[in-house]
Formats: sequence, C-alpha cells, structure tokens
Amino acid sequence: MKAYERLLNYVVVRTPSDENSETVPSSKCQFNLAGVLEKEMKELGLTEVFTDEQCYLYGKLPATPGYEGKDSIGFIAHMDTVADFCDSEIYPVITENYNGEDLALGNSGRILSTQNFPHLKTLKGRTLITSDGTTILGADDKAGIAEILTMVERLQAEHIPHGPICVAFTPDEEIGTGASHFNVEAFGAKYAYTLDGDTEGEIQYENFNACKASFEITGFNVHPGSSKDTMINASLVAMEINQMLPGMETPRGTEEYEGFYHLTNMSGDVAFAQLNYIVRDHNKEFFESRKNTLRLIEKNLNEK
Ligand SMILES: [Zn+2]
Repeated sequence: MKAYERLLNYVVVRTPSDENSETVPSSKCQFNLAGVLEKEMKELGLTEVFTDEQCYLYGKLPATPGYEGKDSIGFIAHMDTVADFCDSEIYPVITENYNGEDLALGNSGRILSTQNFPHLKTLKGRTLITSDGTTILGADDKAGIAEILTMVERLQAEHIPHGPICVAFTPDEEIGTGASHFNVEAFGAKYAYTLDGDTEGEIQYENFNACKASFEITGFNVHPGSSKDTMINASLVAMEINQMLPGMETPRGTEEYEGFYHLTNMSGDVAFAQLNYIVRDHNKEFFESRKNTLRLIEKNLNEK
C-alpha cells in the first residue's frame, strides 16, 4: 500500500484532542484510530503490539538476521489532531497534476492561495491531498503514521536488512501532553525520530521550551451610572495586561530562535475576563524570565 492510501484511511477517523479535558487521553475518539492502527500493525508483522489504557500504541519490528546487535531506532508519530475546524466528517480531496495556482478546497468557497502560501508554487505537477474546506485534513500527524507503517511494510517486502525498529503512536500531542505518559522502556529505542515536521526532507534536531499562561480576571460590576471609583471592568484589566507585554514579541514579530508570547484566545465582559497565551523560547533562561514577567504582571495588577 502507498503511504497516501494509508493517509486517506486514517484522516476519516476524527481524533481531535481536547485541551479542556482532565482525562488521558483527552478524548475517547483517539482510541478509534489506535484500534485501526493496532490491527494494521499486527497484520504487517510487527511484534509486541499493544495499546495501553492511556492510548499509547507500541510495536516492534525485529532485526533481520545478523543485525540483532545493532542499536534500535524508533519512529514516533501522534494520532490526535487539533480540535479547531474539526466538528464534522472529513472528506479528503485529491488534486492530481496540480497546476501551481490558487487551489479551491472542494466547493467550500475557500482557497489555498499562492500568495499566502508561496510554497505551493514549488508543488506544481505534484499530487496534493487537501480537505474539502469544511474541516481540517489532519495530515498532521496522520501523514507521519502513514509514512512509518509504509516504511515497515517496504522494509519487509523488499527484504531490506535492518536493526531492531521500534514504533510508537501517541495521543494528545496537540495539547502539549503527548510525551507525558510515554513509556520509554516499553518503546525500547536507543534513538528515535518523530515524523511530524513540515517541509519535505527537513530534519529538526532541536526543540523549544513552551508553556501555557492563562489570566483570569474577576472584575467588580456596579451600575455604570454610579460607579465612580468603584467599578473594576475585567475586560479593561485584560487589555492592560496584554499592553504590559512587549508588543514585538509575538509570532508575527519573531523568527528563528526568538521567543514570544502568543495570545491565542480572549473573552470577557465587565465582571469576568480571560486571556490565554502560549509562551515559547528556545533558550531556557529566557523562557523562565518570560514566565517571571507574566507573574510580575499578575502580582502588580493584584496589588493595584
Ligand atoms: Zn503534529
């Protein structure tokens, strides 16, 4: 089977993770894909295949004769997708011999424009797989899963000699907890690659530090006609908080190793407001200092 055929099978199994959930995995639907994959892994001849109760799926491809003593190499991908734009059934669309121009997403009226995505032009002549514009596709990271299992199939079909190979598929990567319950011992690899990048042929060998930051602001709501020096408008306090952060240190204003505060979501009225950020920095010290900045804002505004 080709990798893209596997991808088409996997994307229709919806697996959004849920950042508001307290359970592991964060959404039960991730077990649906784990079930499909576990069966497929056994059929492909992987050994020690099992899904644990937290929806981590492991398997091994034993070394070919003479290679048993080699270091074991692992391959990892995640089963969940983002939760945005994922409420209805997923219909993948295949575009063969792509013409390099703006690409319509099904009949949704949405397009992938070459202006917003200049990379598209380099794909002229290739076959593209997209969603129909009503949902995400979920190629992140089901493409990774498809590639790993196709590799496993091909190693065997073409009798390619190899050392011990370990495979793992994890839940909840998109909500930042994919590694939290990963069983390194059961996985069994000495080195591993995660297939979850973006550009074709790229290998990333570093990672950044990341956390979420959430401000909850309780205001004091009184009648606006008689609120002089008493009303505390939670939404205005929220705006004040964001104002205190360096305006340039956003995803738009930074690149490469530069860290940022990214406001992902805000809501509020007079009585209550909320700000949600993600914070990233490659440099651990800078990362800690970003967290201190946020705590300092918290402290100062509470004192005020
Ligand atoms: Zn991913």
